[in-house]
Amino acid sequence: MFTMTFKRHSFLNPDKVIDELICAICQEVASSPMRCGNAEHIFCNSCLVESLKQKQQCPHCRCKFTLENPPQKSRLAEALINSLTVSCDTVSLSNDPVSCQWTGKLSDLDQHMRVCDFLPLSCPNKGCDEIVLRRHMDNHRSKCPERSFTCVDCHEVVKCTLKEEHEETCEYRVVDCRNTCGARFPFFDRYDHFKICPFEVIECPFIKSAKCGYLGKRYQMSEHTADIASHFVGLLRKVEELSLEVEELKSGQQTTFR
Ligand SMILES: [Zn+2]
Ligand SMILES: [Zn+2]
Ligand SMILES: [Zn+2]
Ligand SMILES: [Zn+2]
Ligand SMILES: [Zn+2]
Ligand SMILES: [Zn+2]
Ligand SMILES: [Zn+2]
Repeated sequence: MFTMTFKRHSFLNPDKVIDELICAICQEVASSPMRCGNAEHIFCNSCLVESLKQKQQCPHCRCKFTLENPPQKSRLAEALINSLTVSCDTVSLSNDPVSCQWTGKLSDLDQHMRVCDFLPLSCPNKGCDEIVLRRHMDNHRSKCPERSFTCVDCHEVVKCTLKEEHEETCEYRVVDCRNTCGARFPFFDRYDHFKICPFEVIECPFIKSAKCGYLGKRYQMSEHTADIASHFVGLLRKVEELSLEVEELKSGQQTTFR
């Protein structure tokens, strides 16, 4: 997540910002203050690191830094700087009519920035470049064009612009049986359901044996097949046909083997 970096804090007790706390290189209140061997000069850690790339000496009094005499952290300066009162870093950035009202010790600023409602953050949605104050983030995320949703049926994460399309085609969406039998099942399960659905229209199981072309709902089929009379005629006709076929086969065989 993106956060702005802030250079200059607005100190609310400038009388306490004494010269001894000012970095001899950048002239700002030193951050992570280091001191030279003479203990006279204070630097930001980052300013000193840059300067040491040029020469291993105090850029101010030129006292040498050696292995025996390395730059030291200035705990006193650090303690004094941390106790300075600052306002929230976002105040200088804000073009909002309202701004963060927080003030506190510099040492507490980091903790505050982690929760500050006025901190500009980048939208976490992939593909979205918006930078939004934390206090507006929930609102933005609910409307962000790059937001996504998790399908309740298949648990897939889908981009919001494809929401409707997904909901209409998700294999796991729960559908009503097309035969209005009252059953509900995941779409991918439909063929298994139709094999047992009492309202599915099926053929009479005697379509071959009794040449019955009846189509009816599954739950009515037993009533239909129980009607022996209507199948009997078809059955006789089939027997008749089969007998003829047998006759033909026999006479054919006789011709062959005689
Ligand atoms: Zn500095
Ligand atoms: Zn020095
Ligand atoms: Zn704040
Ligand atoms: Zn966004
Ligand atoms: Zn789905
Ligand atoms: Zn059904
Ligand atoms: Zn039948």
